[in-house]
Amino acid sequence: MSKSSANELNFRASVDLMFNRAASFMDISPKLIEKIRVCNATYIVRFGVKLRGDIHTFTGYRSVHSEHLEPVKGGIRYSPHVNQDEVEALAALMTYKTALVHVPFGGSKGGLCLSPKDWNEEELERITRRFTFELSRRDLIHPSLNVPAPDMGTGEREMAWMMDEYRRLHNTDINNIACVTGKPVHLGGIYGRVEATGRGVQYALREFFRHEDDKKKAGLKGDLDGKTVVVQGLGNVGYHTAKFISEEDGAKIITVIERDGVVRNKKGIDIEALKQHMLSGEPLSAFSGGEFSESDPAAICDPCDILIPAALEGVIHMDNAHSIKTKLIIEAANGPVTAKADKILRDKGVFIIPDMYANAGGVTVSYFEWVKNIGHIRFGRLQRRNEEAKNRSLIQALEEQGNLNFTKNFKEDFIEGALEIDLVRAGLDDTMRAGYKAIKLTLEENPQLEDMRTAAFYKAISDIALHYQSIGL
Ligand code: NAD
Repeated sequence: MSKSSANELNFRASVDLMFNRAASFMDISPKLIEKIRVCNATYIVRFGVKLRGDIHTFTGYRSVHSEHLEPVKGGIRYSPHVNQDEVEALAALMTYKTALVHVPFGGSKGGLCLSPKDWNEEELERITRRFTFELSRRDLIHPSLNVPAPDMGTGEREMAWMMDEYRRLHNTDINNIACVTGKPVHLGGIYGRVEATGRGVQYALREFFRHEDDKKKAGLKGDLDGKTVVVQGLGNVGYHTAKFISEEDGAKIITVIERDGVVRNKKGIDIEALKQHMLSGEPLSAFSGGEFSESDPAAICDPCDILIPAALEGVIHMDNAHSIKTKLIIEAANGPVTAKADKILRDKGVFIIPDMYANAGGVTVSYFEWVKNIGHIRFGRLQRRNEEAKNRSLIQALEEQGNLNFTKNFKEDFIEGALEIDLVRAGLDDTMRAGYKAIKLTLEENPQLEDMRTAAFYKAISDIALHYQSIGL
């Protein structure tokens, strides 16, 4: 990845600049705007864990951006680059994201400064449990106050450890498993959470292709079928997005940019095969389904219809934005485009679907998981068979009295009541469609906002401001 120049803003300043651009169009008191923009608190903890016969000190963060709604929500990232600026920027984005897609949470984010590759599973478990204990002491993990989720470098495994540690510490709290989301299904997780962010990106892209005016602005036609795509990062978000849009919608993934190199194939990369290859531990260079090159900073500028940055922040910056050759960027990662690059791309006419909307699928399904946990019942458990019985009666009546004949497959599909995964996908699709339409409506009512990102900020800030104005501070 190419480095941005020293003139580039840091991540938080970049998010604030985008926020300020939207706020400048609003008729809201500057004092209230400031209250909404600032991060309420950031807790930094240093703790020791005895490993390999020695004490190792780790630094962890949990930032709470806004508590206008509780619990606050946001992932926990494991990366050697985690720092206060980063978690505060990510926590702010969580506040705006949840407001935009009407998920009733405030914004938070956390991180642990370590490289997961440096520690084995048992060691990571001990570190995670100790971090959970530190967070729990300050109610920074809590079913009704602060609910972490996975992010870069963490997944179901870490969430299971965190939940279990919290449950041990608070065994009389009947809602204790709602302290984190993104847990394995057998430990109170929900079907569809692992894939949720990538699935949400797919639904956002499908929604984009339903809007002729937006396609025209981007210079695109038709639907996802046959569109050339460059993806950066084949982790949770990048893998699921690339898999779904290539296998289900016919998009052609021509470049995958990973930490260890780049894979290109003009005919389209088999994403499942590439992912299995990566999981097998073989080097990327040994993958036979495409042409490999060493880490190449220019790969993000490969010509394509759609660019999907799905790795980390700040990868499109003022030094490479001029060279980006795509029509549409969908920000699957948080903050992949810096504020300065955003301006360059807007001037070039690149259409950007912003992170706060594009990757909201994760927090949306986390919300469903949390509701399931505090409801203590799986979605669809009460209704499924009732729905099935009604559908069966309808089909029988139509066949007997209406002289209609349905195929066996149709009958089976129609009669079967919805499973939890069906309900989760339907709820996610609805949220992504509604989010896109809310941004578009904001733009229609305020054409001076010009672009989707500014409209998304405008909509989120308006809703949070209304909240504060209605209840006072
Ligand atoms: P992940 O750790 O599963 O995957 C990240 C991938 O990016 C890895 O495959 C890693 O090797 C690759 N990568 C790292 N540095 C890279 C570089 N310099 N160049 C190319 N590839 C690189 O993380 P994730 O959960 O998929 O998160 C990715 C992004 O999506 C982050 O910005 C995160 O905040 C955001 N996000 C994640 C979720 C979620 O549910 N996991 C939800 C919303 C947003």
